[in-house]
Amino acid sequence: MKKSVCIVCRKEKKGSMIEDDLYLETIRNIKNRLNIARNNTLVVCDECLPKAKEKRRRFERSLMTWTVLATLFFVMLVLISQTLQSIFFGLVAAVLFILFSLISYFPRVEEHGRKKGRSTS
Ligand SMILES: [Zn+2]
Repeated sequence: MKKSVCIVCRKEKKGSMIEDDLYLETIRNIKNRLNIARNNTLVVCDECLPKAKEKRRRFERSLMTWTVLATLFFVMLVLISQTLQSIFFGLVAAVLFILFSLISYFPRVEEHGRKKGRSTS
């Protein structure tokens, strides 16, 4: 029997499902490989819904900011010095920038009443 756990207050509660994305899938794959997956269904309970939406908004904003910064940084580096090393360094830095934004990662909450099956793609 799968338990449903709220990802904000960490209590066993029913609530809105969260959407699977690349990040969650990666985490799940790692956990499965390490055998530490708890297989709980992740939800956001009704009390935590406003908080969850705010967290998601903040994450989307930070991801966008960091992506723009990473792109600018990369383009500037390539324009200034056109060596292979600097392009490589720029790429690594850009990836780090985007990874940095994942610190504030928060999944998207599925809209109420729109029950969607787990995507298999
Ligand atoms: Zn909650």
